[in-house]
Amino acid sequence: MAPFEVHLPTTAAEAVALRRDLPESMYVAGGTDLLVNLKHRLHAARHLVSLSAVEEMVGIEASGDGTLRIGAGTVLHRVAESEVVREGVPALAIAAGLVAGPQHRRMGTLGGNVMLDTRCLFYNQSASWREALGFCLKKDGDWCHVINTAKRCVAAHSADTVPVLIALDAVLEVAHPEDGPGEVRVEDLYVIDGRFEQNRTLDPRCLVVAIRIPPRKPGHRSTYRKVRARRAVDFPQLGLAVVGAFSGDGACTDLTAVVSAVLPKPQRLKRMEAAVGTHLEDDVIEEIAEQAFRQVHPQTSIHGDPAWRRQMARVEMRRALQALRASA
Ligand SMILES: Cc1cc2nc3c(=O)[nH]c(=O)nc-3n(C[C@H](O)[C@H](O)[C@H](O)COP(=O)(O)OP(=O)(O)OC[C@H]3O[C@@H](n4cnc5c(N)ncnc54)[C@H](O)[C@@H]3O)c2cc1C
Ligand code: SF4
Repeated sequence: MAPFEVHLPTTAAEAVALRRDLPESMYVAGGTDLLVNLKHRLHAARHLVSLSAVEEMVGIEASGDGTLRIGAGTVLHRVAESEVVREGVPALAIAAGLVAGPQHRRMGTLGGNVMLDTRCLFYNQSASWREALGFCLKKDGDWCHVINTAKRCVAAHSADTVPVLIALDAVLEVAHPEDGPGEVRVEDLYVIDGRFEQNRTLDPRCLVVAIRIPPRKPGHRSTYRKVRARRAVDFPQLGLAVVGAFSGDGACTDLTAVVSAVLPKPQRLKRMEAAVGTHLEDDVIEEIAEQAFRQVHPQTSIHGDPAWRRQMARVEMRRALQALRASA
């Protein structure tokens, strides 16, 4: 790992000023992803602005209208275990509890998860490995080994909590180095190009201060399904967030599904309105599961046969809807 200097601000304003003023600087929260990437020489950072002492960025607050505000520096373990989150937005607690392994969840933060770099088998490797094969478009090269083009990187968006946050219409509270505080919808943060710092619509010097989840619709039910090679530690090969609203008699009034680990940006599935007005009977579930299969087209950028992962979109959608039906 190349040497770097660590800075320890105690306020968000101080952190943003350091990131703005120090050349080749990066934020580090839990460091569970960043430090691995630095070892692989995927980023050049001479200064790390640590967020670990910024107390104002830690905590979970629920306001009277049902809005949930989670500080970006809150660790995933706390999000997963929080009663407020488990009861108010079950899918977020499930997704946070499925990230990596227990040690990562006690260090890794929700903000770090939102800002996680995209992943690819040709990129998340040591510098010598990448050099031996020939560097790729995402880092130091000019060619994508996955889709054989010089135009676009299709490294997979791999953060478990993000499809849930998109399905919940969550908003990021950000601090911009020049423009001050601002907001961006989580859904508007990413673009369909997996290259580092080109994958986001935000100025890379922006600090994510908190994640705000608006009040859920009446009769909220939600879940998150994750396909991975092992039951622990592994990144998703497919992530599926499903959020629904139900009337008093159990009829579905709204359904949203977002899939991840397919492209550089999570994908909101279309034609979910087939569920509205139904009680998620088996034939309705099959119809929506078929929609998931049709719309999901995984790439070979991450582990797992793409054809199998596509089939799993159908299977996991079926399981998610069955879980929603059962959680009345
Ligand atoms: C073995 C292993 C398995 C993993 N498995 C999973 C998995 O299954 N699912 C998953 O989602 N992730 C996984 N991860 C990745 C990582 O543990 C999580 O994504 C974690 O949430 C990252 O949070 P962090 O606080 O450690 O971020 P860091 O590593 O500190 O930072 C990640 C990125 O976010 C930026 N950043 C951090 N906080 C902010 C902020 N507040 N504002 C602006 N930028 C910020 C950093 O500059 C960096 O670019 C895994 C990692 C490892 C090593
Ligand atoms: S998808 Fe292509 S450009 Fe992107 S990291 Fe993989 S090989 Fe590199």
